[in-house]
Amino acid sequence: MATLIDGKAIAAKVRAEVAAGVAEMKAKHGLVPGLAVMRIGEDPASKIYVTSKRKVAAELGFHALEVHLPEDVSHAVALERLQALNVDPAIHGILVQLPVPKQIDADSLLAALRPEKDADGLNAVNAGLLAQGRETTLPCTPWGVMRMLEEIGFNPMGKRAVVVGRSILVGRPMALMLVNASATVTICHRKSNLPEEVARGELVVVAAGVPELVKGAWIRPGAVVIDVGMNRLADGKLVGDVEFAAAAERASAITPVPGGVGPMTIAMLMKNALQNAQRTLRR
Ligand code: NAP
Repeated sequence: MATLIDGKAIAAKVRAEVAAGVAEMKAKHGLVPGLAVMRIGEDPASKIYVTSKRKVAAELGFHALEVHLPEDVSHAVALERLQALNVDPAIHGILVQLPVPKQIDADSLLAALRPEKDADGLNAVNAGLLAQGRETTLPCTPWGVMRMLEEIGFNPMGKRAVVVGRSILVGRPMALMLVNASATVTICHRKSNLPEEVARGELVVVAAGVPELVKGAWIRPGAVVIDVGMNRLADGKLVGDVEFAAAAERASAITPVPGGVGPMTIAMLMKNALQNAQRTLRR
């Protein structure tokens, strides 16, 4: 039976480190790191996420700002507000909450964000640096997975890692971070033979957005299984992308859903914002 990887506990540890870093920055340099979250429109899930990001940031001692723009705001106005944050010396981390309304071009908005103020690692410059093995500001969810692996003492070096999903948000950067950590990485998508590929993995990371896509019987005995998926079923239950009970029978360690990868994402966002502020001291 697999050991459960406690994302809540690991995320709490990361948040405590960030709070200590913020306190030190204030004490030694008189600098309060600032995080701005830009929310455009009225997407109900985004409102919940942004409220919780702002709350955590404030709890850890950041100057936490939400810039909320109306549903019908023009792309030009949204860009202007972003550019104002780009040059605001009180702001060190900026996050544009996705999705955005259809008149807004999310790609060009993210491209306009100054790479050194990027808080979620989705800016193309930071994504490119990751692809070159020069990790700078990393996407929060896969970076959180790397931290979980470190906490359980799993070193990816030389291991066969299988990543299911190739999104810009999770799958691709996850695979690149594992390559940078010297794992042998297979990236799977809709055209892959999943049972065959997953069965090879000593580490399996799943980010597909399909409830229980990865069956327990596919898991190689002793593998570490990280389930990034968060799927709300019709009955309100939250399930991951892995058939949890059956996978836990074969894996050596596994993340639950909820309480696994989920809590790590916000914690790593805070770490990114702090690191951006720390870098300004070195310039
Ligand atoms: P996404 O943009 O929809 O990408 C999903 C990826 O999975 C795609 O590459 C897709 O392949 C692949 N895929 C989908 N169905 C598949 C199938 N049947 N067989 C093989 N591959 C399949 O999703 P995402 O943004 O990466 O998110 C993935 C999941 O993670 C979602 O459940 C999301 O809610 C969750 N998530 C959680 C957190 C967190 O904090 N815990 C953060 C972000 C995301 P193709 O490229 O071939 O289409």
